[in-house]
Amino acid sequence: MNIFEVLYNEVISFLGIGHVVEVVKSGDYSSLLTFNGILSVISPFIPFLLIIEIIRALVYKKFKIDDYRIPFFIFVANRFISRFISIAMVALCIGLFEKHSIFKTTFTWYWFIYGYIIWEFSHFIYHFLAHKVRILWCLHSTHHAPENMNLSVTYAHFFLEAPYADFIRTSICILLGVNAPMLFFIMFIDGTWGAFIHVGENVLKDARLGFLNKVILTPSHHRVHHARNVEYMDTNFCNLLNIWDKVFGTFKYEKKELPIEYGITRPMNPRNFWDVYFGEIYYLAKDVWHAPGIKNKFFYLIMPPGWSHTGEHKTARAEKRKLQEKLTVKQINEVQVAAEA
Ligand SMILES: [Zn+2]
Ligand SMILES: [Zn+2]
Repeated sequence: MNIFEVLYNEVISFLGIGHVVEVVKSGDYSSLLTFNGILSVISPFIPFLLIIEIIRALVYKKFKIDDYRIPFFIFVANRFISRFISIAMVALCIGLFEKHSIFKTTFTWYWFIYGYIIWEFSHFIYHFLAHKVRILWCLHSTHHAPENMNLSVTYAHFFLEAPYADFIRTSICILLGVNAPMLFFIMFIDGTWGAFIHVGENVLKDARLGFLNKVILTPSHHRVHHARNVEYMDTNFCNLLNIWDKVFGTFKYEKKELPIEYGITRPMNPRNFWDVYFGEIYYLAKDVWHAPGIKNKFFYLIMPPGWSHTGEHKTARAEKRKLQEKLTVKQINEVQVAAEA
């Protein structure tokens, strides 16, 4: 295979149009009406939206190569290894846990609703732990590193994150009776929506999607999730149905008066691939190395990011408490000034 063929195949695979190209070549369009055919028509949606986003950014002269460069490198790095480990992990979990499931479901609309609610629950668990357990944050932080929101962010993931996510999500769903074909169908919808919620401000300035903002998780909610503003940190862990954020009290609306700052809280270089990809692992290793005693070393691995053996925590929770104290002091001062006036 020469270099042009390799590049051609890569582009076709990225765009998700392999099946459509085959259909056009053969002239037999009937397969587009099958279940797989419909999926193959939906697959190119996100890659094409990404291209539209870049074109709009170019037209409005807002295109900055830095916004896309690192996610592109990460996509290339993950292209082979991550996808295969992830598929293998899903197959492994189904094989391991299917015989232990609490009951068997069928592919009907009511079991589909049940399956989706369970899927969102498993997604919440994976995502919540990825933010609250520091060693798992090392796998997830690459996705939070970009300081601008656009569709390329959807491809920015550390290569071990997908197998970790799929281990948690597949195991929970299979054990709670979601059958494998339905799980794949849900994963497909979730993957498409999960990519769409990263749509950039060049395409969609106000991402609240009208009344949907009250009903489902919109790109606006996911922008809040990507914010490093203390008030927004560690909120909106769900993907499409935000029921579990509402149940567990992690749901947050985007506030007009509090503009989102994207990225993570430690000083980093978002233009440096190594910092984006391995930076958190480096700092964790450093903390573990310097921590006194085996207990503290272990705590650095499992406690939330920002936990410190000295007690000077900088976790999201501690930072929120400090912010709240500051606001309370400010309010008291304002009341006093008003009373004295
Ligand atoms: Zn996250
Ligand atoms: Zn995201």
